[in-house]
Amino acid sequence: MKVLKFGGTSVGSSKNISNVISILDNYAKKDKVVCIVSAVGGITDKLLLAGKQAKNKDTSYIDTFNLIKDIHFNVINELNLEKSSSIVAFVDEKLNALKSLLDGIFLINELSPKTSDKLVSFGELLSSYIIAETMKNRGLSADSKNSQELIVTNSNFTKAEVDYAITNKNILAYFNSVNQQITVLPGFISKSKIGEQTTLGRGGSDFTAAIVAAALKVEQLEIWTDVSGMFTTNPKLVKQAYPIEKISYQEAMELSHFGAKVLYPPTVQPVLDLNIPIHIKNTLEPEAAGTVISNEEIISSSPVKGISNIGNIALLTLQGSGMIGIPGFSKRLFETLSQEKINIILITQASSEHSICLGIDENDAELAQTAIDATFENEIALHKIDPIIVEKDLSIIALVGDNMKNHQGISGKMFSTLGKNNINIRAIAQGASEKNISAVILQSDVKKALNTLHEQFFETKTKQLNIFITGVGNVGEKLVEQIKQQRKYLKDNLKINLRIAGLSNSRKMIFSEEGIDLTNWKEQLENGEQATLNGFFENTKALNLRNSIFVDVTANKDVAGLYEKYLRQSIGVVACNKIACSSDYENYKLLKRLSLKYNAPYLFETNVGAGLPIIDTLNNLIASGDKITSIHAVLSGSLNFVFNNFNDTTKFYDVVKQAAAEGYTEPDPRIDLSGVDVARKILILARESGVEMNLENIENTPFLSDSGMKSDSVDDFYQTLIKDEAHYQGLYASAKAKNCQLKYVAQFNDGKANVSLQEIPSDHPFYNLKGKDNIVMFYTQRYPEQPMIIKGAGAGADVTASGLFADIIRVGND
Ligand code: ADP
Ligand code: ASP
Ligand code: MG
Repeated sequence: MKVLKFGGTSVGSSKNISNVISILDNYAKKDKVVCIVSAVGGITDKLLLAGKQAKNKDTSYIDTFNLIKDIHFNVINELNLEKSSSIVAFVDEKLNALKSLLDGIFLINELSPKTSDKLVSFGELLSSYIIAETMKNRGLSADSKNSQELIVTNSNFTKAEVDYAITNKNILAYFNSVNQQITVLPGFISKSKIGEQTTLGRGGSDFTAAIVAAALKVEQLEIWTDVSGMFTTNPKLVKQAYPIEKISYQEAMELSHFGAKVLYPPTVQPVLDLNIPIHIKNTLEPEAAGTVISNEEIISSSPVKGISNIGNIALLTLQGSGMIGIPGFSKRLFETLSQEKINIILITQASSEHSICLGIDENDAELAQTAIDATFENEIALHKIDPIIVEKDLSIIALVGDNMKNHQGISGKMFSTLGKNNINIRAIAQGASEKNISAVILQSDVKKALNTLHEQFFETKTKQLNIFITGVGNVGEKLVEQIKQQRKYLKDNLKINLRIAGLSNSRKMIFSEEGIDLTNWKEQLENGEQATLNGFFENTKALNLRNSIFVDVTANKDVAGLYEKYLRQSIGVVACNKIACSSDYENYKLLKRLSLKYNAPYLFETNVGAGLPIIDTLNNLIASGDKITSIHAVLSGSLNFVFNNFNDTTKFYDVVKQAAAEGYTEPDPRIDLSGVDVARKILILARESGVEMNLENIENTPFLSDSGMKSDSVDDFYQTLIKDEAHYQGLYASAKAKNCQLKYVAQFNDGKANVSLQEIPSDHPFYNLKGKDNIVMFYTQRYPEQPMIIKGAGAGADVTASGLFADIIRVGND
C-alpha cells in the first residue's frame, strides 16, 4: 500500500490534477494506493470568509459562495466532466447544502466552532469526489471514501484530537477489503464519537495522511505540494532558499512548528513512532528530488538546517518589582492562558524573575490581556505587578538544527547579523535541547531578517550589497557603468553580489527591490518618478534591504545633511561629496559615532585625491599604531592642471575653462581656485589624523585677484579672469624667474594647517607633478625622514568613480 497526499495547488487546475493522476496511475500499476487530498487551493479560506460574512449579516457572503461554486465548476469543465449528469448532480447537491448552511448562519447571526467545521468540510468533500470521478472517467480503478467515516476524534472543534484506537481499527478494516486500486480520501475532516463533523486544524490534510500511513504501517508517506521539498527557509520570501535533501523528524517538526507551512506540525507524530519516512515532493515538478524526513543520522556541513518564521505574533510582558515574592506566579499565569485555550508559542523569563515574556497569536491578545489582568487583579492593585504590556505586529524567526548545540557562537552570529542590519530584537528564546534559537522581531523586518540570516548561514559564499546612488551626472554615470561591467567579476571572485536598488538624478528616481536592470538604466531613470532627496531616503528605508549603502555622488549640501538619517537606519554611506566631512567638527564626529553605533560604514576615500588610496592609507597607519607628524600635499587635480598648462603663451581664463570642461573642477570653479576645496581636503586629513579642527582654523592665502575673490556668480568670476590676466601672468613670471613651478600646496604640521600657491624649486618632489596628478607625503613616527608618498591622478570622473567603487567593495569585504 502507498499513501500520498496532494495539497490545494495540486488539485487546483485540470493540468495539476492530470499530473496527480499520472503520478497515482504509475504507483497503482504495482500496488494499491491511498490518495489524500486537500480542498481546491484557497477554498477553505473562502468558506471561512463566507461564514464570517454571513455571521456579520453581510450579504456579500452570496458573492463568496458564487465564487466557490464557479471555482469548482471551472475545474469540472476543464476536466470535461460537465456532461456527466450524476457528477453535476452530486456537486450541485453539495453546493446547495453549503448554501443552506450559509443562509442559516446569516439568519441566526452566529458561527460556532462546530458549525465552522461543518462549513469547511465541504472543501475536501468536493475535491475528493471530483478527483475520484475524474480517475474513474479516465478508466482507472478508483473510488472515494469519506474519511469522516474512518477518523474519529473528540469534540474539540477546529482542532480535534484523534482517537487512535478506533481510527486505526476503522482504517485497517476498510483497507483490508478495499477493491479499487486507488482510494481518494478527503484530508482534514473527521467526525466525533457522537457523529459531529470535526476538523484536524488548518493544514490538517497532511495530518490525515500521516494517520492513514501509520495505521497501514506503510514504508513511506509522500506529501505532494507546490514546492520541491522543505526549503532552507520560506522560498516565497527568500529567493536563494533551496530544498533540504534530508532532515530529521525533530528538525522538520521544529521548522514546521515555527511556521514552515509546507508541513503541518502534528503530521510527524504518528509516523515518527513507527519510523516511517516522509517524502515531500512537488506535483508541478515530479522529477525534483524533494526532501526526505526520517530518523537517519544526517551529516551536514551547516549546523543550521533551516530558518522559519511565524507572523501575527503578540508579545505579552508581565513585570513588576513584587513578582519574585508571589507564590505560584508562573503556574497561575500559564493556567490562565490554558483555561482560555490560548497557545503559548514562545516564553522567555529574565533570570532575575522580574519579568516574563510570552509570544502568542495576535488574535488571542485581547482575550489574554483581559484574563491575565483579572488573574492578577489584587497584585496589580497593590502595585506588585504592572498591568500586562501587549505589543503587536511582531513575528518570530527561528534557526533550527539538531547539531546547533555542538557549535558555539551560532546565537552570537545570529544576533550580530540582525543587529548589523538594524533589526531590533524584542525577545529571545533558546529551547533547552538547543535545537532552536528564536527571536521576536517586527513583522516589517521579517523579509530582511530571513534574507540576511539565510545569507549568513546558507550562502556564506556570497554577500549581497544593495546600492542606492544619488547623483548620476559625470561621475555617477561612470560608477554605474563600472558596476555594470564588474558585477560578474565581483560575484565570481570576491563573492559580492552587487545590485543597484535605487538611482536618482536631480529630476527623477527609480527603485527596484530585485536590483535595477542596468542594460537600459538611463531610459528607466528618464521614466522614473519625480525625485526629492527625502523621497529617495524614504524609499530606501521602506525597501529595508540588507547591506544597504547610500552613495552620494553630488556636491550638494542638502544631500550631505541626510547622512545622519541614513546611518541611523544602519544604511552605510559612501560619499565623494566632501561637505559633510569638512563641515562643522561636531557634525563630522556625530557621523563617525553614528557609523559605529549603527554598524553602518561611512566611507569617503574620494574626498581627497579621487581614486588614490590616501585616507585608507592614513587610517591604516594610525590603526597600526603610527603617529602622523606632518603632511605635505598637492591635493587639487584641477589647480594642478591649471598651473601645469598656464604659461606666457596661454590665457588663464582659457585654461580654467578647459579644466572645467574636462570635469576637473567642482561645478563652481571658485571653490577650487579660492583654495577652499584644498582647505577642505587637508582639513579632512587632519581630522582623520586625530586632530580636532575646523575650516576656519586653516590659514588660506589666496592667489586670486581681489575682484576674483569678490565675484558673486560663476559668470562674473570668469569675467574677472579675463580682466585680471595681467595679475595671473605676474604670478607665472615671478616663478619662472626663479626657475620654479607654481603648485598649490597644502600643509599640516604640528596641529596647524595652511593652503597656498607656492613657487616650487626643481629639486622638490612636487616640481615634476604632471597633468592633474596629486601627491601626498606623510611624515610619521615610522617615516620620519623619507615620507610615505602617494602619487597619481587626483581628479577625473573615471578615477573618482573607481574610488567610490573601491569604498563600496570595502563595505562588501567588511
Ligand atoms: P499544500 O496546499 O500543498 O498543503 P501549503 O501551502 O500548505 O501547501 O504549503 C506549501 C507552502 O509552504 C509553500 O508554497 C511555501 O510558500 C510555504 N513554506 C513556508 N516555509 C517553507 C519552507 N521552509 N519550505 C517550503 N515551503 C515553505
Ligand atoms: N484545506 C485545509 C486548509 O486549507 C486543510 C489542508 O489543506 O491541509 O487548511
Ligand atoms: Mg498544507
